[in-house]
Amino acid sequence: MKPFAFRRAASVADAIAEVSESGGVYLAGGTNLVDLMKNDVLHPDRLIDIRRLGLTSVAATASGGVRIGSGVTNSALANHPLIRSQYPVLSQSILSGATTQLRNMATVGGNLLQRTRCPYFMQPEFGQCNKRRPGSGCAALAGFHREHAIFGASQSCVAINPSDMAVALAILDAVVHVEGPGGPRAIPFAEFYTLPGDTPDLENCLLPAELILSVELPASPYADRSWYLKLRDRHSYAFALVSAAVGIDLADGVIASAAIALGGVAATPWRVPAAEESMIGRPPDAATFEAAARLAMADAQPLAQNAFKVPLGRQAIVRALTRAITAGAGSG
Ligand code: SF4
Repeated sequence: MKPFAFRRAASVADAIAEVSESGGVYLAGGTNLVDLMKNDVLHPDRLIDIRRLGLTSVAATASGGVRIGSGVTNSALANHPLIRSQYPVLSQSILSGATTQLRNMATVGGNLLQRTRCPYFMQPEFGQCNKRRPGSGCAALAGFHREHAIFGASQSCVAINPSDMAVALAILDAVVHVEGPGGPRAIPFAEFYTLPGDTPDLENCLLPAELILSVELPASPYADRSWYLKLRDRHSYAFALVSAAVGIDLADGVIASAAIALGGVAATPWRVPAAEESMIGRPPDAATFEAAARLAMADAQPLAQNAFKVPLGRQAIVRALTRAITAGAGSG
């Protein structure tokens, strides 16, 4: 690992000023960043430790939602009573990722910013990777791409976002609160991540030195009926081939609103609005779920090795919607 300077920030303002002036990077749990430094994928000169800035609260908001500090660990968030009761899909998604040890270290902000696990990105021995070395090409296109994107990719990059938590946040209409040299901003979750286009090295809309302070969730209509289903090559400690976060709100026996987001299929959590809208006013049964799943996957553009993700995605959606209804059986 390349030598680096380390400094513990005394406050949010201190951290932002330090990163802004020095070009350093924020260090929270370090579970992804330090791995990438050890592998010589990233080599920052300066790490600014933000673990003692008090960004660790999970608090109900006056409007019935919750505000989650960016320094809350994944374990603390998944097991928080408010999250387990009001946003169970978020708890499920987090607990499906990584290991207990990693979840005890990893933070909400870091989870949002974790990098793709495309093997060509993770191993600098491979010369071609537009995300790691802009302009060098994409080795995955003609190489191994079984785990890669089927939505929203480009000829520059076909990598996926590896976060489980982000898929659940996508159906909960989260808002990401950040602060930077230009002041605070509130970013709707749908605008937080960016598709690769010609610049796959840019993965989100954060400006230089902006620091994620918290994630806010509005009151959820899906507290009683939601599910996160993760399909992967082995049952634990593996990234999703396809995952589905779903929520259903019922009124008078029919679907009043529904939300579906897919993971493992794009560089962003992938919402499917046409499929969601197709369910409104229909009964929550197999025919409704299967029709929505077909719509959700209709525009997929698989690569040579990952066409299996299309039927897998359909099955994941149907199963997740079915489990959401089962989970809510007995609720009003
Ligand atoms: Fe790099 Fe993206 Fe291509 Fe993977 S898919 S090699 S991350 S440019």
